[in-house]
Amino acid sequence: MSEPLKNCPFCYSVNLEIPYSIYSYEHNKKRYHVLCNNCDSKSGEYDTRELAIEAWNKRADDKYNELVEFLISFVINADCADNVKDCVPCEAYELLRKHGVEV
Ligand SMILES: [Zn+2]
Ligand SMILES: [Zn+2]
Repeated sequence: MSEPLKNCPFCYSVNLEIPYSIYSYEHNKKRYHVLCNNCDSKSGEYDTRELAIEAWNKRADDKYNELVEFLISFVINADCADNVKDCVPCEAYELLRKHGVEV
């Protein structure tokens, strides 16, 4: 049983599939990739489904970490006055805490 696919890192869709291409010049070798049916993003091609899933999930993690890092710098650099209603940096801070990120 392979690990589950993470949401598309570009559009957050779960409408994903793992099609394969057949390469006749390589003894009909199958090469798999992950495809997002919503935004047409795809992973590279790999010899097994598992490797395609691993690469896709790693990219999803990288995108997520990129976003978290951006949010952290946004929160840290915000010049936040106390008791301001609907303060965006404060909401971002709460969101990060909710996801277990130390800020
Ligand atoms: Zn997508
Ligand atoms: Zn604030």
